[in-house]
Amino acid sequence: MPTVPEALTLMDYGPAPESTDHAMEWLKGRSFGHFINGKFTTASESFATNSPASGVELVQVAQGSDSDVDSAVKAARKAAPGWAALSGHMRARYLYALARLIQKRERLFAVLESLDNGKPIRESRDIDVPLAVRHFYHHAGWAELLADEFPGYRPHGVCGQIIPWNFPLLMLAWKIAPALAAGNTIVLKPAEQTPLTALLFAELCIEAGLPKGVVNIVTGDGRSGAALVAHPGVDKIAFTGSTDIGRTIRRATAGSDKALTLELGGKSPFIVFAEADLDAAVEGVVDAIWFNQGEVCCAGSRILVQESIAETFTNRLKTRMKTLRVGDPLDKSTDIGAVIDDTQLQRIRGIVDQAVAQGAVLHQALAPNGPGSFCAPGLLTDLGAANIAMTEEIFGPIVTLMTFRTPAEAVELANNTRYGLAASVWSENITTALDIAASVKAGIVWINGTNIFDANAPFGGMRDSGFGREGAREGMLAYLTFDAATGGTRKPVAALSGLPDGASGDAVDRTRKLYIGGAQKRPDGGYSYAVPGAQVPMGNRKDIRNAVEAAEKAGKWSGVTGHNRAQVLYFLAENLNARAAEFAAQVGEAETQAAIARAFYWAAWADKYDGRVHSTQGAHVTLAMKEPFGVMGVICPEEAPLLGFVSTVLPAIAMGNRVVAVPSQSNPVAALDFYQVLDTSDVPGGVVNIVTGPRGELADTLAKHDGVAALWAFADPAICENAKTQSASNLKPVWAETHLRDWSGAAGQAREFLQRAVQVKTIWVPYGA
Ligand code: NDP
Repeated sequence: MPTVPEALTLMDYGPAPESTDHAMEWLKGRSFGHFINGKFTTASESFATNSPASGVELVQVAQGSDSDVDSAVKAARKAAPGWAALSGHMRARYLYALARLIQKRERLFAVLESLDNGKPIRESRDIDVPLAVRHFYHHAGWAELLADEFPGYRPHGVCGQIIPWNFPLLMLAWKIAPALAAGNTIVLKPAEQTPLTALLFAELCIEAGLPKGVVNIVTGDGRSGAALVAHPGVDKIAFTGSTDIGRTIRRATAGSDKALTLELGGKSPFIVFAEADLDAAVEGVVDAIWFNQGEVCCAGSRILVQESIAETFTNRLKTRMKTLRVGDPLDKSTDIGAVIDDTQLQRIRGIVDQAVAQGAVLHQALAPNGPGSFCAPGLLTDLGAANIAMTEEIFGPIVTLMTFRTPAEAVELANNTRYGLAASVWSENITTALDIAASVKAGIVWINGTNIFDANAPFGGMRDSGFGREGAREGMLAYLTFDAATGGTRKPVAALSGLPDGASGDAVDRTRKLYIGGAQKRPDGGYSYAVPGAQVPMGNRKDIRNAVEAAEKAGKWSGVTGHNRAQVLYFLAENLNARAAEFAAQVGEAETQAAIARAFYWAAWADKYDGRVHSTQGAHVTLAMKEPFGVMGVICPEEAPLLGFVSTVLPAIAMGNRVVAVPSQSNPVAALDFYQVLDTSDVPGGVVNIVTGPRGELADTLAKHDGVAALWAFADPAICENAKTQSASNLKPVWAETHLRDWSGAAGQAREFLQRAVQVKTIWVPYGA
């Protein structure tokens, strides 16, 4: 026993264990079935869920078979009309009741979560559970306000939701609360390692009197997830997990009309400038990568530190790292608990070993040897940009550190990743911090902070981090659909047979040209095809690639003000009006007049579809900025050759995108002649590029192209399916509409066009002197 003076010098922590009695009592003697149609089933096949900290089995849970998934989807389908027909107020009452019930069992949820996942009780108690409660309260509000705030929208129907093991209850709340608020019913599959808090939540659904079948929970491994994705009775899939499985799901849903949102991995930069508060930034690293054992999709896993302060910062960080306590998750003074299982531990070690073999230097603290899967916090230095630890998501408590000299270099390094989930910027200079926030490719940027979440702050990524947002008004949109179906399914267009240039028999070459980079261009293949009254160019892959390159070069358009874009679009509308007679001769008076009106309409929106400031946590301004994607592909509708072109291309450029447009295949003349309007309207070269030809092939090239950040396809089912399948390689969002739309009416200028032309970047700006 140390004397008091000795104890003061040691300042060691004594054990401070949280009792597990209540949770063990809840588990005692049980084995769980699925929660389907308001009750628990009897499992026909089971597996164990273990404590990552001890390796000991906690309880047996059911392995979901295809038939279990089928029963759950059927229950959800049956419940869907009744749930959607309830008033928003009634749905709000249920969500509110669920929030209250979780709150009443906060401690049980927190202890179960730490037992099942291995995360420190401090985090499950102070972060996961309160945030889950916050999500149910917040979305009770959206249910109440739905009809007022989202007129014209309806729920998708049945949502299949698949969640990972790193934040089991929180991810459940992020998925279930908005889906229920919007009027959807649910089949949720928790990760096989962490089903317990979802099963406790199922009990609360019974207690809250939630109508049967509204929430169904099927436990099991990836096979149950795959069955849910494949089920024809599911209308929307929401997935959080690894990028690889995200791609698999993108491909698996391509042939259906299932809506899809993907929240995937990350390799988020943590950028520290010389003028940053260094002690705060060191604490920031603790929250960025040593929170939740580093098993966080938005973890700040790549530190980029300005060269002039790199040594000081690194030394302070190493000192701080040594003070972190790794051990029993149920001990209230533990900083880092156990990683989810031995497979994950071996995966982390494997990447670290490879990183070191590739030249990195590892600085690591200590961790218990086990039993249980413990990983000591670590810092990798002396790495090259191509080191495996710089490119792969480690999903463990290991961070890399690199230096930069200038802000431009910081941005270049930050964006040197295939991911785009989050970024953290540390600087006391507001101009620098906001400039970097605007320049990094990430869905969430924290200034002088990290890993701050709120139900009213949109969360989600770009690039290989997926698409769609969760939380806030923006997240509600992921669970709603704007019903613009007005007709049948689009029919495939006949295959084209082209003629070499000059073979049309015409002495004078009247073949129209492609429009690329602000100039008329002959098609690369030198072929054209005949349409009524004209020969039109037969574009190919190479033409699409040239058009994308031209669009990439026109990046300035994305940076000009909305007012500037509005001016250009008004001028364009005026010029279209001046040529009305020429266009009317091609597509008729009514379509021409509608197209002119539509051009004015999108011009009006160019400076008005702006972002929001969300009310989130104290002492923060949380901005939800609407950013253009960059280069977009648009497969224009086959019908309404001028109006369909104007209705799709103009909202995309009004929001700051540059477009490669593939007009109607069978009737492209009006769109090709539109170049004259573009030329005379100060639309910079490369902002709109027009490539005609076989739309299936051109859509395929656009879908595969890494330079195209988003794709719209108003096309037949085969083209849409292929576009979605091919997009899996770079995970661009694809808006594929296989049904006909009435372009002349309100559906032709729906808000959806603006919504789908932007991605939301959430920027957290702290204040307080
Ligand atoms: P997965 O992406 O495999 O798992 C996420 C969820 O998807 C789980 O519920 C899983 O079920 C389910 N699933 C697995 N396969 C399919 C499928 N074919 N169709 C539908 N659902 C499926 O992540 P892992 O748990 O396997 O972790 C692997 C790696 O992924 C980690 O090492 C980490 O790097 C990364 N990861 C990233 C996350 C993020 O949020 N960015 C979250 C989790 C992991 P099951 O429980 O059986 O696996």
